[in-house]
Amino acid sequence: MANFQLHRPEAIVIGAGIVGLCTAYFLVEAGMPVTIIDPSEPGAECSSGNAGSLASGAVAPLAMPGVLKQAPSMLLDPTGPLYVPTGYLLQVAPWMARFVAASRQTRVAEIAQALHALIGNAVADHKNMASRTGCRDLISDTGQLHLYPDQRSLEKDNAAWALKRQYGLIAEHIGGAEIRSLEPAVSSDYQAGYHLPDQPWVKEPKLYASRIADHLKSRGVRFIRDHVQSLSRDVTGWSIRGRAADYFATQVVLAAGAWSAQLLRPLGIKVPLESQRGYHLRFAGGGVDLRRIVVLADRKVFITPMQNGLRVAGTVEFGGLKRPPSTVRAGLLAGHAKAGLPDLNISSPAEWMGHRPCLPDSLPVIGEVPHQKNLWCAFGHGHLGLTGSAGTGRLLAQAMSGVASAQRTLSPFSISRF
Ligand SMILES: Cc1cc2nc3c(=O)[nH]c(=O)nc-3n(C[C@H](O)[C@H](O)[C@H](O)COP(=O)(O)OP(=O)(O)OC[C@H]3O[C@@H](n4cnc5c(N)ncnc54)[C@H](O)[C@@H]3O)c2cc1C
Repeated sequence: MANFQLHRPEAIVIGAGIVGLCTAYFLVEAGMPVTIIDPSEPGAECSSGNAGSLASGAVAPLAMPGVLKQAPSMLLDPTGPLYVPTGYLLQVAPWMARFVAASRQTRVAEIAQALHALIGNAVADHKNMASRTGCRDLISDTGQLHLYPDQRSLEKDNAAWALKRQYGLIAEHIGGAEIRSLEPAVSSDYQAGYHLPDQPWVKEPKLYASRIADHLKSRGVRFIRDHVQSLSRDVTGWSIRGRAADYFATQVVLAAGAWSAQLLRPLGIKVPLESQRGYHLRFAGGGVDLRRIVVLADRKVFITPMQNGLRVAGTVEFGGLKRPPSTVRAGLLAGHAKAGLPDLNISSPAEWMGHRPCLPDSLPVIGEVPHQKNLWCAFGHGHLGLTGSAGTGRLLAQAMSGVASAQRTLSPFSISRF
């Protein structure tokens, strides 16, 4: 194995997903030389296939009070939005127990406050970064619709909407006529919902990541295609063993998404990171036009008019990082899409599956690892990684530069909470 020393970069970021890219962007802005290591091209994994929502108001965690009552029926319904294969139930049980524990009212209030500090400025953060990196044209300001069949089903989510509004989300209540005047293609089975005029979306997340990467290259960031196998600390900094070579850096940022826990385990650090496998179907010639993101909130499905076709994204499937994608789970999305958009031609969609990196309390892990000086985490953004990537990068770069206020803001995200 070649053992060479690079130009001894100040920081190496492991992972070129949207979180690693945004972190690199803000580190470069702070004047730090950066190298990014990833075996794949920028944004190739989870960051390519998401629904594109920049949901700066989504401060309600996934585990809200009452989740214990809803979860068993959801888990037992193979066509529902949440699925655990029986062979994986035992493995995921400790994670589920923590998930339920995080649904206590007081903990939910703490989580919402922390999330607001991370994502509350996401729209401005992304727009500023996008303007500087040549991808402002990829952010659409047409807003989002979150829809329910009727007022009764909307009211089941009252607690989450109240929390979001408490933190300033503009959510305009709308009925059937307004829904169809905004989006004529939506089925008349949807009669209630919220219009979120201030929540933008990204028109093509993979392209967004690529353009940020191109900008970083133009500013001297070095991209290395390698798979990191282990990390170790020596007197001068961190050694990173890759499949192809060894690398050295003063500071390391671990932004390897759902794969991050694997690299911490040999250092004796355990973190309850699970992949919530999500799917999308892309309908290139679906024959239906939307102007904005339409969320079928009762089905937990996002429909986004991406540049290359309608993307129907959703479902949560546990099962780890190695099992092959389930064509059954992916196929369910076609039925959901048809229920929301009856005129959609659902033949021959392109299928995609990606690993959402999820911690049980819906908060990512961001910040320095205790007793591992200069090893920084930026992973576990779950359902909000696109949204939270810019705030993560901004706050982490500040914290790494010694800004005390950023270190304080990041304290609820510390890995030491587990
Ligand atoms: C169906 C679906 C819809 C979603 N919709 C939204 C949405 O609308 N809005 C939103 O905000 N979020 C959404 N998300 C979540 C969001 O996509 C993720 O949270 C986000 O992409 C995670 O980014 P990441 O950079 O942490 O991980 P990734 O994009 O997975 O990147 C991790 C990178 O690390 C690399 N890596 C892994 N192991 C190693 C190693 N050993 N060495 C080097 N590199 C390594 C991988 O190759 C990869 O490139 C959605 C997710 C899914 C699945």
